[in-house]
Amino acid sequence: MGVKFKSPIVVEPDAFTWFDVELPDPGPYEVLFRNRACLICGSDLHVYKGLHPFAPLPACCGHEVAADVVAVGSKVASLQIGDRVYVAGTGAGPIPCGHCRNCVRGNPRQCLNPHVPTSFEVGGRRVARFPSGYGEYTIGHEGYAYKIPDNVSYFEAAVTTDMAYVIGVVQRSGATIGDTAVILGAGPIGLRTLEAARLAGISQLIVSEPVDYRRAMAKELGADAVVNPREEDAVDRVMKLTDGAGVDVVYDTAGAGQATKQGLAMLKTKIGGAGTLCLMGLYERPDLTFNASDLMRKAGKIVAEWGIATNRRKNVEDALMLMGQGRLHVLKWITHKLPERRADEAMRMLIEKKDGAIGVEIIH
Ligand SMILES: [Zn+2]
Ligand SMILES: [Zn+2]
Repeated sequence: MGVKFKSPIVVEPDAFTWFDVELPDPGPYEVLFRNRACLICGSDLHVYKGLHPFAPLPACCGHEVAADVVAVGSKVASLQIGDRVYVAGTGAGPIPCGHCRNCVRGNPRQCLNPHVPTSFEVGGRRVARFPSGYGEYTIGHEGYAYKIPDNVSYFEAAVTTDMAYVIGVVQRSGATIGDTAVILGAGPIGLRTLEAARLAGISQLIVSEPVDYRRAMAKELGADAVVNPREEDAVDRVMKLTDGAGVDVVYDTAGAGQATKQGLAMLKTKIGGAGTLCLMGLYERPDLTFNASDLMRKAGKIVAEWGIATNRRKNVEDALMLMGQGRLHVLKWITHKLPERRADEAMRMLIEKKDGAIGVEIIH
């Protein structure tokens, strides 16, 4: 039986094409989700432009999804029809079986019987990340779904993927009470990092961001200082703000070589300063050059991590818990909610950084 609907797919760069697609009934451990809200992630913009390093076209966009459970497989024990859930990793790859020896040892990526519940081809090429959050339905293993606290809306829950991601990176960065930090970029990843870093106890948070309205949002969310790197030397400014010391941690969400170079220069300047640079933006041009001697002299450390790889269960649960407790203020930067048919408009708004767009969600 399954469901039939139209799904937007990027076949050629810079436009969606809608295709008639069908999803099967869920297998024993699988769940069919009706999507309600899907946050447009920076990585979706790379897909849309045909520049995503791990999702060649044709591909779907949309992996940050809040949904309703509309059908469950015969062996699903943790969810019921009607549950409100956050769905991790839509269409991102084969579903682990959950009961082979690698799965039960907590290593589902090495699953011995991975199952692909569905796939879709365009022009003989398999569509990457199908099905996704921009279409009306997705399907996945029950282990990919997390119940949303009653007081958390679909719009909030849709930011969970990368909220969990930034929580993981902030933890790996070793940031702790009294530390200082710079965040490069105040887009959806940068703003989530700002809130996670604050919760980790960072005492001085400086945000560098060229777009005026995004800098204003960083300020509203509690940045101690904001810098416009187009109008002033961001490294100089950070040195002034830290009395020449530099910062303990730089969270680089910009994904641009120039920003990364600046980030390295902002790290604790003394010999053995031991600052940490976290690479969090997807690079469209990933070949970087930097001064390795300077990094060694400062005993600096680089933490590099690509979002989806670290969607660890605890980080997701913590993100949902923190939203339920009102400790995160993600709704402040959800600036637009657009229906699926306006998906192209939504993408352009973000690529061109216009209309005050920061967090844009596709809603169903
Ligand atoms: Zn994302
Ligand atoms: Zn398995």
